[in-house]
Amino acid sequence: MKTLILTCKDIRKFLNMRETIDKMEEAFKLHALGKVQMPPKSYLIFDKGDLRAMPACLGKYAGIKWVNSHPENYKFGLPTVMAVYILNDVKTGFPLAIMEASELTNYRTGATGGLAAKYLARKDSEVIGFIGCGRQAYTQFLALKEEFEIKEVKAYDINESSAKKFVEFVKSHGIEGKVMSAKETCQCDILVTTTPSRKPVVKDEWIKEGMHINAIGADGPGKQELDEKILLRAKIVVDDIEQAVHGGEINVAISKGLLRREDIYATLGEVILGKKVRESEKDITIFDSTGLAIQDVALASLIYEKAKRENVGLEIDLFNL
Ligand code: NAD
Repeated sequence: MKTLILTCKDIRKFLNMRETIDKMEEAFKLHALGKVQMPPKSYLIFDKGDLRAMPACLGKYAGIKWVNSHPENYKFGLPTVMAVYILNDVKTGFPLAIMEASELTNYRTGATGGLAAKYLARKDSEVIGFIGCGRQAYTQFLALKEEFEIKEVKAYDINESSAKKFVEFVKSHGIEGKVMSAKETCQCDILVTTTPSRKPVVKDEWIKEGMHINAIGADGPGKQELDEKILLRAKIVVDDIEQAVHGGEINVAISKGLLRREDIYATLGEVILGKKVRESEKDITIFDSTGLAIQDVALASLIYEKAKRENVGLEIDLFNL
């Protein structure tokens, strides 16, 4: 038996946002029904960064993402984040594939933002604001474009050239885009925050009734993008309660005692199952995304099946079988 090796070039051939959103919907439903296995992420912490393991099992596939974060890697000409995925067959444990997983992470994160907004944002949402215009902003935009008739995109980044580049990307999809201040960017229907910030970037007074926020950037202890007062007047939907309490947008407010775990309105899975909904046009809804291992296994299995069908990748006999 052979193990399939897939590089980032191979993976890109199979990344399709519509399919990824649908796959995420299926994964989050199974998560809410308790039909997945997903032990907590496990970390190795170093002076200059960290490595984390994210195992999960979904249906007939299991797998693990092994991913680093080394913010000073630019000094060595290397990316901050480099992820590798090992996909196994649940029946035998055989490693079916080893694949590059950084782009996979960006896609599954974007797709889940689109999915959350589909259920939580007002249906007539047409102006989207982006605070932070790095990698995650691109796939968040691609996913929202699948779900909404976007009329205008507003973009803010502390690095103006990143915001300009992102706006060019938006325009290349035929949608109007403008670089604006953080305050102006928040005058929108759906706000997407994708910064690595450790202090609030979005002020309470900028957030109007009826808005939906995809809070993507905070995915570890101490990270925070939104003023805590926003959390107190919003319906907070998390991807996973334990992860969100530990390192999601709500982690700082919880550790300060401003918010309690019981204040979480729902998980995304519960929303998809129809157990919880946006109750009024005036509700402010927040999707607190931390990134789940089930999202990775779901997308890795989809990519693996496509690559096998289309004979893409390099097959190697790891065990001399
Ligand atoms: P990136 O480095 O590509 O982009 C981050 C952008 O934020 C940069 O353009 C930077 O200039 C900008 N920025 C930094 N501080 C800012 C501030 N105070 N105000 C405005 N802009 C600011 O990183 P990325 O891959 O897009 O990741 C962004 C964040 O999302 C990180 O914190 C990362 O850990 C997190 N993330 C979350 C998930 C998830 O599943 N929730 C998945 C991947 C990444």
